[in-house]
Amino acid sequence: MVAATKATLSPYDPLISPFEIRRTRFKNRMFMAPHGTGYAKGGGWGDQALAYYKARLDGGVALIVTEATQVVPVTGQGYAQLNGASDAFPAEVRKLTDICADYDARCIVQLYNEGRARAHSTDGSVEPALAPSVMRDERFHIVPVEMTTDQIEQFVGLFAAAAGRAVAGGADGVELLIGMGYLHGQFLSPRINVRTDAYGGSPENRHRFAIETLKAMREKMGDAPLLGFRVVPEDDDPDGMRMAETLAFCQAAAEQGLVDYISVAVGGTHTLAGTRKIVPPMYFDADDALAQASAVRKATNLPIMVAGRINQPVQALQAITSEAADMVGFVRALLTDPGFPNKVVEGDLDSIRACIGCNQACIGHRNKGHGVSCIQFPESGRELQYGSLGKAERAKHVVVVGGGPAGMKAAAVCAARGHKVQLFEKGRQLGGQALLAQALPGRAEFGGIVTNLKSELEQHGVLVTLNHEVTQAELAAFAPDEVILATGARPHMPVGEFEGAQVVQAWDVISGTAQVGGSVVVADWRCDWVGPGVAEMLAANGHKVVLCVNGEKAGELLQPYVRYALAGRMHEAGVSVVPYMRVFGADEDTAYFQHVVTGAPQMIEEMDTLVMAWGNDPVTDLVDSGLTCPVHRIGDCLSPRTAEEAVLEGLKVAAAV
Ligand code: SF4
Repeated sequence: MVAATKATLSPYDPLISPFEIRRTRFKNRMFMAPHGTGYAKGGGWGDQALAYYKARLDGGVALIVTEATQVVPVTGQGYAQLNGASDAFPAEVRKLTDICADYDARCIVQLYNEGRARAHSTDGSVEPALAPSVMRDERFHIVPVEMTTDQIEQFVGLFAAAAGRAVAGGADGVELLIGMGYLHGQFLSPRINVRTDAYGGSPENRHRFAIETLKAMREKMGDAPLLGFRVVPEDDDPDGMRMAETLAFCQAAAEQGLVDYISVAVGGTHTLAGTRKIVPPMYFDADDALAQASAVRKATNLPIMVAGRINQPVQALQAITSEAADMVGFVRALLTDPGFPNKVVEGDLDSIRACIGCNQACIGHRNKGHGVSCIQFPESGRELQYGSLGKAERAKHVVVVGGGPAGMKAAAVCAARGHKVQLFEKGRQLGGQALLAQALPGRAEFGGIVTNLKSELEQHGVLVTLNHEVTQAELAAFAPDEVILATGARPHMPVGEFEGAQVVQAWDVISGTAQVGGSVVVADWRCDWVGPGVAEMLAANGHKVVLCVNGEKAGELLQPYVRYALAGRMHEAGVSVVPYMRVFGADEDTAYFQHVVTGAPQMIEEMDTLVMAWGNDPVTDLVDSGLTCPVHRIGDCLSPRTAEEAVLEGLKVAAAV
């Protein structure tokens, strides 16, 4: 179960070599960073949560830092967090630490309380949130209640008790989440903590709650387990932490010998500016995390863990060799490819399926109350169903029509299961709409989904034919055992009066086959990446752009952190956004809309070109093919949605063939 370390010298030795913090040994420098999985239910872990963690352990991580564990008693239907206040907690922790031991891996439990950043509710009502001071929270629009000194002392005790329970469950360590703007971070910030007692004012006073908490945790844990904390030195929130303030706290903790390591992350939860970096989407790189980690290391000389948009082995290696950090954490990289660490150890770097930072099925699922997964690798989070598909009972001849993400995934998994697979794509490249998505500003990484799926097609020996539009007669002549239709979608044109107007499709603008005038109106029905993307692209090229969306906001269907980042980019590019709009016509210089609630006419004048991003229609040309073998429709040709559903349906059909 444990990958063998290569005998020969590898350039990745600094990353794959063991590391020790006090007496705790890590078999390599790669760990699974803490994140809400969405698989904790009722305060504990079920079978899916454990299968999820086991897959990453099987992939070679040296350490799992658990998701943030609540320390106050929590209740409420569907509460998807661990409950460190429960007497059942040690037994829950034991479930994971036993599996970690099988893989020679360690487990650290992270503890937190959100303070004023209260996003959950036990019964649907908004309960009062506790915070150091009555300073309002811009992200969640909360006016908190100031904690009394008794409550502060109670919280210190709650954290200590939870730490003791974690250690009783076999945890190798416990970590206090301070950064990202949660309760302890709120005490550290002089813009949130304006108390005038012993817990506010001077740096020493603002540090007091965290210092007392760490001391109490250590007392309960005993000397052997590791104790650390996680910070974001500069969280990009106006209310949040400045680098010098965080470093002062880290130095104080280091000088008092309170902790064994510090973990560094990025993002903050007080405003949308900080929030967009909590799980940094593709618009951001790993440089921020590495620079912040480096600053903490220089200031404290403690072992440093770092995470934040590190999705390539070379970046992880750089984190170690540049001495920014001692251990490198991943979340999304392990959702996309649970075997990432072992592949680095084995030198099999080319087969690593890199995360593209879309945020859709990982944190995007969590935002919707579901467990994390990955658009590229939907097996993640579905380990119990798809974790070990194995070979099919009988090898079949499978024909896949369409080389977008749905067809590519279906073909790759069918071939991996031992079927003979032919894939036909009518265009000159594989990739479908992902080829358009990657052409938008800041989204080049989206093309990684095509690169990764192509490599899986090659790895499993799929016969790919490009520039070939399959006919019904051909399909019949192939005499396949099964046909998978993944023929995608084409842009929709709404019913209306458009005489005299220059109307072009967003796809054609993105691909460069349509010209547009100086003043552009974008009509956006789907509220996904297409409308904002094409609007930003045109505005960045000097066009005057009004984006009229058929929903409440631009990018309404996008993962919130991506949407916030996009809102900032569109604002900087000068795009005007008008919500609640339904297009119904255009002439030479005016676009006509209705307000979606009142039906009142809305006009956008002085328009040269109307760019239509009004969603797609399925391409169903081969559906009634008259074949006698099973014919499966997947992805957009069944119902136009996103790459996530396309790839997932590719997996599902391939598992069933
Ligand atoms: Fe990465 Fe996107 Fe997968 Fe999330 S859904 S892990 S961001 S590729």
